[in-house]
Amino acid sequence: MSSALPDCCQPLAAEEKFRFACQPGATCFTDCCRQLDLALTPFDVLRLKKRLKLDSGCFLEQYVLVAWEEGMIFPACFLTMIDDGKASCVFVTIQGCSVYADRPAACRAYPAGRGISRRVDGSAEERFVLLREPHCLGFAESAEQTAPEYFHAQGLTEYNRCNDQLLRLLQHPKIQAGFRLSQAQMDQYVMALYNVDFFRQEMADGRIAMRRPLAVAELRALAGDDEELLLLGLRWLLQEYFGETA
Ligand code: SF4
Ligand code: SF4
Repeated sequence: MSSALPDCCQPLAAEEKFRFACQPGATCFTDCCRQLDLALTPFDVLRLKKRLKLDSGCFLEQYVLVAWEEGMIFPACFLTMIDDGKASCVFVTIQGCSVYADRPAACRAYPAGRGISRRVDGSAEERFVLLREPHCLGFAESAEQTAPEYFHAQGLTEYNRCNDQLLRLLQHPKIQAGFRLSQAQMDQYVMALYNVDFFRQEMADGRIAMRRPLAVAELRALAGDDEELLLLGLRWLLQEYFGETA
């Protein structure tokens, strides 16, 4: 694993402490919000669209670039950056992040990162890395913590809980065996996991359907529970791609 990491990125054991604190007064304040590729998870989009009081379709149209290139299995959704010569995040201001309480998981985790893989029993196995970028002065601070402690303090627990469910799809045995998505299946992926309000409407109107009766939680999803809706979208994709109806 370490050989594939860039020089500034080191593996970090779960119990290993690192010194870091981000201070709003630091001269590097918001440098980390520029010149970056910020991949959004489905849960990031739920939080941001709710904060901005936007329908998911409007949010995607205004703020997201959907990308896919040869070698990628699933399409990726990136937050758009501003063309200001510094490729700044669309949400950064002189005061800091304008969506701070609902900032994406990658922003919360920085300068650490978390990778997960699926064990045979379906549970998630975590790995951590630390990114020591030269512009970030937070490493000079004295606060010490492990990656799990840092993530908990940054409010990542509910993000990870939701995103980890997607492993069932992202690391499905058939994907690992070489199953690849058609263009129509990529469109389904973006709709079910990112354009969730559209997905909800399509399902409520009967244009897309599960091959089994909806469970109580799935009915809640149609009635407005966005987190349940993501799970319903996940189950629908597993049905459409692999014929799973559980
Ligand atoms: S560059 Fe590092 S210390 Fe500076 S604002 Fe960003 S995270 Fe905080
Ligand atoms: S969403 Fe907020 S924290 Fe994340 S890059 Fe943009 S301004 Fe920075």
